Amino acid sequence: MGTIEKFNEHVMGTYGRYPLVMESGSGETATDENGKKYIDFGSGIGTNSLGYCNSEWADAVCEQVRKIQHTSNYYYTKVQADFAAKLTEVTGTEKVFFGNSGAEANECAIKIARKYSFDKYGKGRQTIITLVNSFHGRTITTLSATGQDVFHNYFFPFTEGFVFAEANNIDDLRSKIDDSVCAVMFEYIQGEGGVNALEQSFVDAIFEIAAEKDILTISDEVQTGVGRTGKFLAGDHFGHKADIITLAKGIAGGLPMGACLTGGKCSGVLTSGTHGSTFGGNPVCCAGGLKVLDKAGDSDFLAEVAKKGAYFREKLSEIPEVSGLSGIGLMIGISLKTKKAADMAKAALENGLLVLTAKDKIRLLPPLTITYGEIDDGIKILADILSK
Ligand SMILES: *Cc1c(COP(=O)(O)O)cnc(C)c1O
Repeated sequence: MGTIEKFNEHVMGTYGRYPLVMESGSGETATDENGKKYIDFGSGIGTNSLGYCNSEWADAVCEQVRKIQHTSNYYYTKVQADFAAKLTEVTGTEKVFFGNSGAEANECAIKIARKYSFDKYGKGRQTIITLVNSFHGRTITTLSATGQDVFHNYFFPFTEGFVFAEANNIDDLRSKIDDSVCAVMFEYIQGEGGVNALEQSFVDAIFEIAAEKDILTISDEVQTGVGRTGKFLAGDHFGHKADIITLAKGIAGGLPMGACLTGGKCSGVLTSGTHGSTFGGNPVCCAGGLKVLDKAGDSDFLAEVAKKGAYFREKLSEIPEVSGLSGIGLMIGISLKTKKAADMAKAALENGLLVLTAKDKIRLLPPLTITYGEIDDGIKILADILSK
């Protein structure tokens, strides 16, 4: 039996998968089981931030796996301490809780926001405002937080206490604020929702309203964080730092990890016994994460990401079929004049290029280490299929 048949017989059909079996990868190129190569402009949905099997990263991960692969969070490990110290340093935060995914990081953020409010104001101040068209994860609670009706099916009852405000509509946001609100949660650039950056004035309003009423801000930087936009945090482009920041996707270079970061008033909220994760802060993932931070935590590296983002945009804007570009840095949304993004993603794959989609756009989240040569090669393939 071939891999695809075996897979479909035994793995739940939760994804519409392309008929392609990935076998290996090196740098920015993936290779399938037939030896066909693909330039990767998707990096495993923004996870393989240093590309495939970066040698320094792989060495650190292998060394850690041979030293100690895991231990209970009832004990300390040096590598988790080192990673936490570096991560809080580069993000300008104080404390971190480690989970294993973006959804878990957001669950942690939601728990912190509600407990902060409970500790200070008592019961009844539990509402979290999120934005229409957001995406925050696949657990029951993060689905509730996700401002898209398509996700609010089948799994009733959903977690209560989420109210949706329209992105970039300050009046709508203000109208949703009442005494039950403890937090506003948002993506600076909505990723799954179509690579749409929030407007500066709207972000300013979120922080202004929040400060007035001791409402917490939660920035979901699961997709935008860890250098993706040319700054370590997308919030740095807007000049704001949320009370609670969540990271995942690219944080450990392709190993499962999520982080929920706090500074100031939220850092002492979660106390012994109030939260936990068996695998959270796993030493191997932390060792991989440290190598990611060596690069993405460096200002020269980030400047290079920004430059590559600008280069991408310049080249993409020359393609006649492209009607618009969105996002910041190496988080790129491409609007098309006449063609369908899903069809183009399929055609790209057939021609040796991996891209993602988000709503009606092609979405690119290339490895942060991508070279100019690979950008040129990939864009050539994209330009070709878009001109057909
Ligand atoms: C991908 C994503 C999530 C969910 O992350 P998982 O690791 O799949 O749980 C949450 N928020 C945003 C903004 C994301 O892009």
